[in-house]
Amino acid sequence: MLAAIALAPDTRDDDLIDRDTPPCRLVSDDLWFSDDPTELERAKALCTGCPLRQACLAGALARREYCGVWGGEIFDRGSMIARKRPRGRPSKATLARDAEIAAARAAAGVA
Ligand code: SF4
Repeated sequence: MLAAIALAPDTRDDDLIDRDTPPCRLVSDDLWFSDDPTELERAKALCTGCPLRQACLAGALARREYCGVWGGEIFDRGSMIARKRPRGRPSKATLARDAEIAAARAAAGVA
């Protein structure tokens, strides 16, 4: 991840996608290393349009990144996970949704 530069306060996520510059260079690193699942999902969404996405993910896997969002995927304690859960006991609906996401990722060949 590279150092962020200052952005205008009214910059929208759409303004950060489909540019030549990786979005993580334009937004604070905190978003890519947040403890807040909502912020991590936002970082993943911003990675979607990044021209370096494939190389970024390959590099993170090769380095065995411990945490953060890399190449549009969340790394948590050295594992790539579909999404980070909020603190506290998950609801049955959350567990069912996570199982569906994990099954879909397995079917697609994504770890
Ligand atoms: S794919 Fe990698 S380089 Fe691109 S925005 Fe995401 S973390 Fe940054």
